[in-house]
Amino acid sequence: MMKRLLLIFCLVAFNYGISQTVSDLINAVDISELTLTLNEFSGEVSTVVDGNTVTILNRVSNSDNNLAADYLLQKFNAISGLTVNNDIYAAGANGGRNIIATQLGQTNPNDIYIICAHYDSVANYCADDNVSGTAAVLEIARILSQQNTDNTIVYALWDQEEIGLVGSNNYAEAATVRGDNILAVLNMDMMAYENDGDNEFDIDVRNIGNSLAMKDDIISALNTYKLSNAIDLTANVVDPGTPQSDHKPFWDEGFTALLLGEAWSTGDRTPHWHLPTDRISTLDLDYYHDMVKLAMAYTATKAGLNTLSVAEFDGLNVNLFPNPIKDNLNIKLSNVVETKVNIYDINGKKLHEQKISNINTTIDVSEFSSGIYFVKLMNNKGERTLKLVKK
Ligand SMILES: [Zn+2]
Repeated sequence: MMKRLLLIFCLVAFNYGISQTVSDLINAVDISELTLTLNEFSGEVSTVVDGNTVTILNRVSNSDNNLAADYLLQKFNAISGLTVNNDIYAAGANGGRNIIATQLGQTNPNDIYIICAHYDSVANYCADDNVSGTAAVLEIARILSQQNTDNTIVYALWDQEEIGLVGSNNYAEAATVRGDNILAVLNMDMMAYENDGDNEFDIDVRNIGNSLAMKDDIISALNTYKLSNAIDLTANVVDPGTPQSDHKPFWDEGFTALLLGEAWSTGDRTPHWHLPTDRISTLDLDYYHDMVKLAMAYTATKAGLNTLSVAEFDGLNVNLFPNPIKDNLNIKLSNVVETKVNIYDINGKKLHEQKISNINTTIDVSEFSSGIYFVKLMNNKGERTLKLVKK
């Protein structure tokens, strides 16, 4: 019994770092990570920013919220695989700082999905408005950034929402000038308050761009994935939805966008809105956890998780990733079956031969030159050959 438990534990632990399915990523959304960010960024507890122990007491943009912005910059910089931009702009009173991180798509780098929230506030604490959205963006970035995706994901944290959507407007106008191919903008603002027990939430949408189809995609993600064992979220579609958050500047530019948040439409908005009593103790963390999982389900689905190939042998799945590969080829078996792996170059010359019998195997291919290779997999269920592209 102990041995078996230990084996299961090892498989789960080993599996975690290279999770590949949307369900794996949903399950990786960690309430303790979210709660830590909620506590630190709303100033309930101290944290360390640039080596100094500090408490983030202020996020009001016109009374110096640079410490808050620096915290976000540090959070993104600690995540491998992201390009981080400290986007200082001049618009608005005194200008402001959007904190933006980009995960470049491997197949369609010009196809962009934005997942975003504002980080500024109107008072101290303001946990629901909008540390809830901010922590959601950071948590999804922490997890999804470790996957290769087909499409580009921009994780954006806006400044000066509370004084007129200044940061997001500045970005949306610049995106139009640049000609960015933004396929959808998921804005999260106030997503953690639930008081009446119905677990409803709002999708605020308008018939602009493909926003109605985006709303359908969110509902499809809700219906496809089991988010928790404890509660069932229920969607309220609000059309025409509120223009009072950071999706609005994207609507103004004709982009596909919507707002995901707690159920204002059925009277379940936090009574602490814009007050210093908007603190983590008033939030429903089970509800919030599922809201972030829903955002992850949508984002991971649209990102396109990039597995090189799936070879199926009579119920045994073999995944090879990433694609294209750089230094390491990862092989994941759906269960333990001894499998022989041969790698050939485009001329049919065998470069590598190995027997694998673990669920996860990594093969160092850093010595291979750029080009096309073939991976031949053989086991007692049959054989398959898959094409591999080396960058
Ligand atoms: Zn807000």
